[in-house]
Amino acid sequence: MRNNEGRTQIPPELLDQFMKQQEEKFTKQPPPQQQPMTTTGYQVPTDFVELPSKGLFYPENHPWRNKEKIEVRYMTTKEEDILSSEAYAKAGVMFDRLIESVTIDRVDSTTLLPGDRNAILINARKNSYGSNYNFAILCLNCYENLECSVDLADLQSIQVDLDKVTDNNTVSVELPASKKQVEFKIMTSGDINQVTKSTEQQKKHGIQPNESVELHRRMIVSIDGDNSPTTINTFVQTMLLKDSRFLKSQYVKFSPDVDFSYEKKCEKCDHLNKGGVPVGANFFWSDE
Ligand SMILES: [Zn+2]
Repeated sequence: MRNNEGRTQIPPELLDQFMKQQEEKFTKQPPPQQQPMTTTGYQVPTDFVELPSKGLFYPENHPWRNKEKIEVRYMTTKEEDILSSEAYAKAGVMFDRLIESVTIDRVDSTTLLPGDRNAILINARKNSYGSNYNFAILCLNCYENLECSVDLADLQSIQVDLDKVTDNNTVSVELPASKKQVEFKIMTSGDINQVTKSTEQQKKHGIQPNESVELHRRMIVSIDGDNSPTTINTFVQTMLLKDSRFLKSQYVKFSPDVDFSYEKKCEKCDHLNKGGVPVGANFFWSDE
């Protein structure tokens, strides 16, 4: 799910007010009571999820290595408990626990690629609460509150040029300014957690963190064939802006994901709003 472009253009006080309204809307109505499916006596039905990554980018020993599809269970009351757990929500691991609970393979959700996680979450939402997902946005031009909806059954994976992926499950590109050949991997959600953690640590110690440096340090596997941590570390600290921007764009281009973008023409001013569909805790609630 790509970031919502241009979100920051909305005045903060308006956004605040909007978020509050949305929150009220969702807290006023309790989550709908699903007909609980019992796990005793019969098998919980399963479904298959196509992985946007097709199992590429996973290491040799990972259960999802080269798997195009994985099997998931339909959600039961057990998963409903996960979604309503305040402790999980507070720790930010609600979706991790949900993914681990519905997947048939025993996987640690932090070893998964973000795009594959998204595909599983979208499938779980669709199978339990229906494929119609409604959300609200603010028009970026006139701030009109717009109701949007997407059909989760229509979503496609973003096409990644998989021919460029090396046998090492990495991508190798030449940087435009320094002409260095950089090999990078697609980060798992665990890698991304580590980046967040280390930038938070730096802030705590009064150091101004540089997220680009942290991200590059995590994703770069080798530079001109040299994979020593010292080389990579020195390189990322002094990387030219032109190279850094290029590397980021290549990273996005090669990141497998579900295309979860929307387009919505404003009913009031005709402005065409585009962005990533917002996915929050209320993703698993339904109006139906
Ligand atoms: Zn508008």
